[in-house]
Amino acid sequence: MSDFARVAVIGLGLIGSSVARAVAARLPDARVVGHDVDATVRDTARKIGLGHAIADTAAEAVADADLVVLCVPVGAMSAAAAAIADTLPQGAIVTDVGSCKASVVEALTTALPDHAIVPAHPVAGTEQSGPMAGFATLFNHRWCILTPPEGTDPVAVERVAGFWRALGAEVETMAPDHHDRVLAVTSHLPHLIAYTIVGTASDLEEVTQSEVIKYSAGGFRDFTRIAASDPTMWRDVFLANREAVLDMLQRFSEDLAALSRAIRWGKGDELFDHFTQTRAIRRSIVEQGQDDARADFGRSHE
Ligand code: NAP
Repeated sequence: MSDFARVAVIGLGLIGSSVARAVAARLPDARVVGHDVDATVRDTARKIGLGHAIADTAAEAVADADLVVLCVPVGAMSAAAAAIADTLPQGAIVTDVGSCKASVVEALTTALPDHAIVPAHPVAGTEQSGPMAGFATLFNHRWCILTPPEGTDPVAVERVAGFWRALGAEVETMAPDHHDRVLAVTSHLPHLIAYTIVGTASDLEEVTQSEVIKYSAGGFRDFTRIAASDPTMWRDVFLANREAVLDMLQRFSEDLAALSRAIRWGKGDELFDHFTQTRAIRRSIVEQGQDDARADFGRSHE
């Protein structure tokens, strides 16, 4: 259970607006003040009634907060932390939602050396962005990984864990570097592959754009969902998690070369065994409630 009474949400896009909505739905006694650097986003947030108040500055938004949730792109974490440093009340705890953790831990502990920092990554999202894209149930039954720096007060870690659980998430704790390696393979590499394959298909001269779209149900369209993700967010993720991503990319390239060889030499058994193993992984994801069990992601075929 969460015992935070005044929550400030900085950055009101997909994730920040979802945090604000989830707090309103599940922790109705907590007061939420939001802020976004973008005036248009602040206007939209006011219009749709996000939180109890929307502040024009981050400094104002956190002035009486007991929990601050930074929901800005990873490359903006330093600036967002610096903007709240002077007005953040003593004893207030800071968490965030960034998709990479080592660089964020470094940015937040440098900018806010006197506060408990409990970085978090809710492994939940969509390919959309902005305040209209958020929804209160985004974190339901999704993992939220906490990566507290060494020496963080365990009481602060438990309070932040309670906050994310109250929003519906399952909480796990791990070291920031380990998080970055795990997410490099489960999230960052798949996005890189999707960005590449969509680019490759649209560059092929002998295949027209209209054919790419017309026959996309052959598999391509599932990559396009991922490749439609926010360019700012993903630019920042690849720059911040450069080493782990490059390492995983190297392994991926070796495995791809092995599959190419199997195709070239007609090694059907090798291909069959490989595809059988990957099918089992999909089954486990569905069994653990991390995706829809229905065929074709539950799309209607009527
Ligand atoms: P988003 O929809 O683009 O929202 C981010 C918002 O933060 C934008 O309105 C942006 O304004 C604003 N912003 C940028 N710098 C700021 C600052 N210094 N102070 C206040 N506001 C600032 O992005 P998102 O998808 O919610 O992602 C937010 C964070 O969540 C990222 O760190 C991302 O890695 C993480 N995350 C995303 C997902 C996902 O699936 N999308 C999942 C898990 C975690 P401008 O557009 O004007 O810059």
